[in-house]
Amino acid sequence: MQTGQQTIVRTDTENPYLLLTPGPLTTTRTVKEAMLKDWCTWDEEYNGLVRSIRDRLTTLAAPGRERDYTAVLMQGSGTFSVEATIGTALPKEGGKLAIAVNGAYGERIVQIAQTLGIETAVLRFDEREPVDPAKVSLLLSSDPAVTHFAVVHCETTTGILNPLAEIASAVRDSGVTFIVDAMSSFGGIPMDIHELGAHFLISSSNKCIQGVPGFGFVIAERETLKGCKGRARSLSLDLYDQWETMESSGGKWRYTSPTHVVRAFDQALQELEQEGGIAERHRRFAASQSALVSGLKEAGFEALLAQELQSPIITAFRYPSESFDFSLFYQHLKSNGFVLYPGKLTAVPTFRIGSIGDVSEVDMERLTAIVKTYMEVQ
Ligand SMILES: *Cc1c(COP(=O)(O)O)cnc(C)c1O
Repeated sequence: MQTGQQTIVRTDTENPYLLLTPGPLTTTRTVKEAMLKDWCTWDEEYNGLVRSIRDRLTTLAAPGRERDYTAVLMQGSGTFSVEATIGTALPKEGGKLAIAVNGAYGERIVQIAQTLGIETAVLRFDEREPVDPAKVSLLLSSDPAVTHFAVVHCETTTGILNPLAEIASAVRDSGVTFIVDAMSSFGGIPMDIHELGAHFLISSSNKCIQGVPGFGFVIAERETLKGCKGRARSLSLDLYDQWETMESSGGKWRYTSPTHVVRAFDQALQELEQEGGIAERHRRFAASQSALVSGLKEAGFEALLAQELQSPIITAFRYPSESFDFSLFYQHLKSNGFVLYPGKLTAVPTFRIGSIGDVSEVDMERLTAIVKTYMEVQ
């Protein structure tokens, strides 16, 4: 027990450190406790829970328009849901996917499409620049073969927030099917799939909803999804078939579902509501992120991006000097209760700190105090 330090009473005392990572992230004790029971996959009680989760997700994504949208849950990490969406949405013949890329997750969509043998048109930007809606517009009007367009909302590579509303209006004009990877932003940044005119919006259990990893989910425009029967290039990643089974069998998944994870997710959704919904959660993340940036600035660290490009989800920081030893820094912070994330940029050496999960401004202030002391003795 340390004395003379600011004492923060955390409920999850079995965790030696907080995960300041973009998922898996720090979850509440109550979310973890929801997994202490074994759940049958076909029992009515469990299926009712699945139905309720699907309904609540649809309401979060399309408030007031629930009849036009539907939520499909899919086993696996977030990438499995991206792959299921791409592989089910694109027709087997005559489809072409345009992708705007400014980071590793955009590149992953390109890789998925290429693996599935889907024709692509890739619009690349520097990782430190947002996707330019005017260039999206130009691409879509100059290539009439394009049938679908995909973009990442918050590029977790850098933490950059792409201008989704402006991109959406460029896409809407073209009439193509619009797929949004909102993996690291859904639940933490307000968005409305109907207002965006998006057809598929993808996220997962272990990001802003603050559940544990194990499944992804796709909010889909019902009519668009209905038209996807028989298109999938994979049996287990058939988004249409998964949806059809969930709809017609009252919440049943095809194949074994991650029951404990689903139970924890239900608890996480209740806690999102108790917090005051997405708007409140967004406010907390933004307050944490801004406390983090100003605190680390005082300690000598510069954020990679200008604050106006930055999301409240994760922030990349430049190494303060050429001699900076990230692994020593990382070990020091880990032994003082914080786990960070390495960088993912090729051009500039960076590390990243997430501001999502069960963490607050107070945790960020505690972190920056430790960083300042560390830097002073270097
Ligand atoms: C986390 C994430 C994914 C999915 O990654 P998994 O490791 O498969 O969960 C996809 N896109 C973005 C933007 C992400 O942040």
